Amino acid sequence: MKHTACPNCGKKDLEEFFTIPNAPTQSLVTIKNREEALAIPRKDIVLTFCNSCGFIFNGEFDTSIDYYTQGYEDQQGFSPTFVKFITEVTNRVIDRYDIRNKQVIEIGCGKGDFIRLLSKLGNNRGVGIDPAYVPGRGEEVEGVRFIKEFYSDKHGDLQADLITCRHTMEHIHDTKGFMETVKSSIKEADPVLFFEVPSIVRILDIQAFWDIFYEHCTYFSPGSLARLFRQTGFEVLDMYLEYDKQYLFIEAKAADGISEKVHPLEESIEELKAKTKHFVEQINIQLGEWRERLSGFKAEGKKVVVWGGGSKSVGFLTQFADLDVIEHVCDINPHMQGNFIPGIGKQYVGPDFLEEYKPDVVIVMNSVYMNEIQKDLAGRGLHPQMLGL
Ligand SMILES: [Zn+2]
Repeated sequence: MKHTACPNCGKKDLEEFFTIPNAPTQSLVTIKNREEALAIPRKDIVLTFCNSCGFIFNGEFDTSIDYYTQGYEDQQGFSPTFVKFITEVTNRVIDRYDIRNKQVIEIGCGKGDFIRLLSKLGNNRGVGIDPAYVPGRGEEVEGVRFIKEFYSDKHGDLQADLITCRHTMEHIHDTKGFMETVKSSIKEADPVLFFEVPSIVRILDIQAFWDIFYEHCTYFSPGSLARLFRQTGFEVLDMYLEYDKQYLFIEAKAADGISEKVHPLEESIEELKAKTKHFVEQINIQLGEWRERLSGFKAEGKKVVVWGGGSKSVGFLTQFADLDVIEHVCDINPHMQGNFIPGIGKQYVGPDFLEEYKPDVVIVMNSVYMNEIQKDLAGRGLHPQMLGL
């Protein structure tokens, strides 16, 4: 399945710049046995750059696979570090746009953690829409309801003062069509859009190969995201990077006509293209260093575990599966424990397991959590060598 036109701007001046061959097509699906986990189909991720708008996407993304209705685990709220961060971000947006006693919509609400928080902190009423929603995961919040469906034109009657969409657009191939659906849903109300995606800039700058995986078909930079918003009839109010520059936030409103306001965070198409070149030059060095490090651990007979399941661990382990160094992947999300990792075939364990396993090395999939994890391990009498991505 080759996409010959840019999903953001429709132009055809595209350039492939990096391929991850044979990546498992799913990383967060819940699988209960090893054989099934290893049988997950594999396909190439072909990072493609649009010379017309600077958008980066998987040019061979298979849009025919059912990614989100077969059990999908993506909750982050089990980490105190994350809860503190998301509470601060939410309070800020509530204050900025006075989102109190208002109506809010969340597109791609997952298990509903964020819309519950937004509603509680601002005394708002809300609707969360997501095909991967699971009832009963989280407290009941008055005035908050859920629709277990993909967002589409049929939800256009829902009106809101704030439309939020966090960590969802990177899973959407038809980005322009999606933004046009959001735009056409806006009628009498004049909502603020509050969207969040991973930033490709950091991935390119530090060669964060573990952040490239199949379910992410779309990789935004501040420039490409803002250009898409303007092109589909929105005006960018603000943009910023958070969480060690991993997450890119955008605040926007429907514009009269095409907005020409450019935000200072936006990079040019040429600047982003230069970053893709740098990434390609550096990535093999980075992969080689990890390979050498892991082979060294194996030679020394060290017990190595990965802390942090989900897509990052699949993205990381896919590169080194042949070395067979890493025995276990630990995650604090109790809904992941016992599941088998797609494409890798290992079973997730909880932190309790590490007490008896006593790892020599722990590789942390997101350094933002380094202190939290080190403290947890120390509390269990464990003091392994810690490495962070
Ligand atoms: Zn484009």
